[in-house]
Amino acid sequence: MRTKFTLGRVGIVVASLLCAVAPPWSAARAPIAASGSSVEYWPGADYDPSIPSVRRVLGFEFGAEMARADQVTRYFEALAAAAPQRMRTFEYGESWEGRKLIYGVISSERNISRLEEIKSAMAKLADPRRLGPGESAAIIQSMPAVVWLSHSVHGNEPGTTDAALLTAYHLLASRGDPRVAKMLEETVIVVLPLQNPDGRERFINSNRAARGLEPDPSPLSAERDEPWPGGRMNHYVFDMNRDWFTQTQPEMRAHVGLMLEWMPVVVADIHEMGANQTFFFPPEADPLNPHLTSKQLSNVELIARNNAAWFDKAGLRYFNREIFDGFFPGYGSGWPNYQGASAMVYEQGSSRGLVARRSDGSLLHFSDTVKSQFIASLSAVEVVANNRSRFLTDFANYRATAVAEGQREPVKAYVIPEAPDADMAARLAVTLARNGIDVRRAEAAFAACGRRFEAGSYVVSAAQPTKRLIRTLLDEKTEMKADFVKRQEERVSKGLPDEIYDVTAWSLPLMFNVPAVACNNDPIVKGTLVARDWQPSGTVIGEASSVGYLVPWGSTASARFLTAALRAGLPVKSSNKEFTLGSVRYPAGSLFVDGALASENLASRVLELARQSGARVTAVSDSWVTDGPSLGSPNMLHMPLPRVALVWDEPTERYSAGHARFVLERQFGYPVTLIRARRVSAANLDGFDVIVVPGEGGSYAAAFGKRGAENLKNWVQRGGVLIGLGSGTRYLAEKGVDLLPLKLENALESDATKDSSAKAGAGAKPDSAKSDSDKSDDADSRVDAKELTTEADLQKAERPLKAPPRPVAGVLARADVEDEHWLTAGVASRLNVLVTGNDIYAPVRLNDADTVARFAAPDQVLASGVLWEENRRQLAFKPFVVSKATGRGVVVGFTADPNFRAHMAGLNLIFINAIFRGAAITYDANTQ
Ligand SMILES: [Zn+2]
Repeated sequence: MRTKFTLGRVGIVVASLLCAVAPPWSAARAPIAASGSSVEYWPGADYDPSIPSVRRVLGFEFGAEMARADQVTRYFEALAAAAPQRMRTFEYGESWEGRKLIYGVISSERNISRLEEIKSAMAKLADPRRLGPGESAAIIQSMPAVVWLSHSVHGNEPGTTDAALLTAYHLLASRGDPRVAKMLEETVIVVLPLQNPDGRERFINSNRAARGLEPDPSPLSAERDEPWPGGRMNHYVFDMNRDWFTQTQPEMRAHVGLMLEWMPVVVADIHEMGANQTFFFPPEADPLNPHLTSKQLSNVELIARNNAAWFDKAGLRYFNREIFDGFFPGYGSGWPNYQGASAMVYEQGSSRGLVARRSDGSLLHFSDTVKSQFIASLSAVEVVANNRSRFLTDFANYRATAVAEGQREPVKAYVIPEAPDADMAARLAVTLARNGIDVRRAEAAFAACGRRFEAGSYVVSAAQPTKRLIRTLLDEKTEMKADFVKRQEERVSKGLPDEIYDVTAWSLPLMFNVPAVACNNDPIVKGTLVARDWQPSGTVIGEASSVGYLVPWGSTASARFLTAALRAGLPVKSSNKEFTLGSVRYPAGSLFVDGALASENLASRVLELARQSGARVTAVSDSWVTDGPSLGSPNMLHMPLPRVALVWDEPTERYSAGHARFVLERQFGYPVTLIRARRVSAANLDGFDVIVVPGEGGSYAAAFGKRGAENLKNWVQRGGVLIGLGSGTRYLAEKGVDLLPLKLENALESDATKDSSAKAGAGAKPDSAKSDSDKSDDADSRVDAKELTTEADLQKAERPLKAPPRPVAGVLARADVEDEHWLTAGVASRLNVLVTGNDIYAPVRLNDADTVARFAAPDQVLASGVLWEENRRQLAFKPFVVSKATGRGVVVGFTADPNFRAHMAGLNLIFINAIFRGAAITYDANTQ
């Protein structure tokens, strides 16, 4: 902090020199010096030549080129090899595309020699329930504090990874700088240089492929205009910066596991944003999650003030508070807070390549972006080094006060009953365990909160160090400050956008559609702790049988059994109706693996599938059904092996496409053919039984054209199953496509709007009359006077006549399901749906299509989150899932995307039904 900071942009000198010697035939404008090779990142630093620079290992200067994923690994390994006493590198996982996920640990020789001791001390400090007297103080006195620097969770934010290389180099190579010595002495710096190698490779490939004679700073240059889907996301097109508590992606699951192993006290998640922005660091904007503590906020501010001081010295501009709120807990700068760290986001304006021209005409070099992220990183480490015991004490207190609050507050525990959906209850339990939460699985039945729970139910005590995370994940609602919500209501009523950055609802029991009963006592239950990697195994009940096997439909385990059985070539049928066999009631959709049609080894193959899928299968020795269709009934649908296609690439909404693909391929083990949208108009689609149309990011109408719409229509007529997701459904309902009889609604007409439209109508008549009669009568062009007595009157009068409903940031809404429809077999009678945006459709007439699921009544529809009052009234009873038989095929429309972030496990089954039961009913109709 005390070094005199004089930064010269030598790069610019180089540029003008180049200009002076440039031959006359070169381009008229000065060549762009993209390398920034002479940038002085840390003026006055004296570097030890025995520590290899990036130039020595990778052949370019820091910030002169974007290091590729394998180069990042190579450089970290070279650093660790040069200074093994002060740096170690480790692998912590693998990306979808098989790239190594690595991290480096940097500290003093003394600390590096006792890393295991430090980890176990932090684990102790993290669990006040197991600390002996005086142990906490001893740890705080003797242990360094772990600082966590995570880079490039978004692959197209390139400077952050190269800043990680520079940070590691600086910490190891600096000589004679007492500040660096203190950082190494007092802290252990964990550097994850690249969280998303697949996305970064995609970005660098497209950038390099577009490069020409020199790096092009134009905002329009193909270098920074990434082809679909862009480098931000991972292989399955997930924004991993929303995946922290659900951990659907292997990259994030590994990252979270690693963080729980180390327990950092400070986390910086380092990002980039648009080129015209400067640099953002906290304080974050409102709204804040109510479970954040004031200590965390003041610790983050302490770091931010140091960042500000460094930035002032370096002549760097920054801002804070205006955007990036702290409400959603699934960010890399959010989730670590709920473990007791003080976490923050850094956002640097991105050059998105080697050089970008900003709107003010200035050039932003890649090296500039590396420099600011490097300085902000060191600043954070410096603050922790200077305040080590404060940060450790605050961490320990966070964990201890969380336990105390859990003992004191009314909610003392949550119980997740094993019934009605054992598979989903287990999925929820494992998800919580992966968040570092203790979940016990009861070994015997027990009574709690006035009711009885069966063995196998799960208990989550609130008296845990992660209590605040438990509350924000398991409570149905996380409260947003009332005055903030009021301000947003006012903004949207004036036609301004709201200031909410992400969804306002994420309650896991709602998203998984399983109950979590909040108890006012913490039941004493003998049980085993659920492990992070636990996968409940399925079973086969009863002796091997020649009749066959039954799988009750309704759990996602039964759906995994179905997809695996179909792929294994087993003869599977699905009942259209519920039935009773033996003493068991089987819901509609239940599967029958027909022993009469199977080849040998059926028993062992079914057992293997049951184990893998987690399904509970019953061997049938007596086929006598006492109620409902028999096993040989025509109501036992043959389940074909459907060939499923998914519309892909421009103009699909990339997340919707990626999430749908992920759910089918990775959660249900079923392969999908990706068809680029531009092929839809002319392709022969007859090779597919099911086509999924994800949400649209651009216009399907433009991409498919008339010919594409006809192609899809004819394919449906011939027996195809066409499924629209979210705004993909909007396309299917569009004029000229007309595959679904859905109509988007305008905003609800309030009384005042009706008034003003009447007035507008009244005013229109004299207007038209004016042209052919008395032109001098000015009064005819006037409307009747209206007295406005309140602000509300004014708002109503100014409101546009026909406008879409107000967009919603993201809420969980309840929907009720029609039973007795092929789409809803085995599906719970009430679902929770993630609703964003403003697509609300008018009710569909009974003879036009089947409304299979519709949003609940006005007083029931909002399950969680911030929903504008008017939208709540308007959404009630409106369609969620609509199905229409067309020719020999069927069209299904989900008005909200059921696969949102793969978080909505409770909607898996209705989506699976649409595909597999849809293929079965059309197959059945077409083979009769
Ligand atoms: Zn980012």
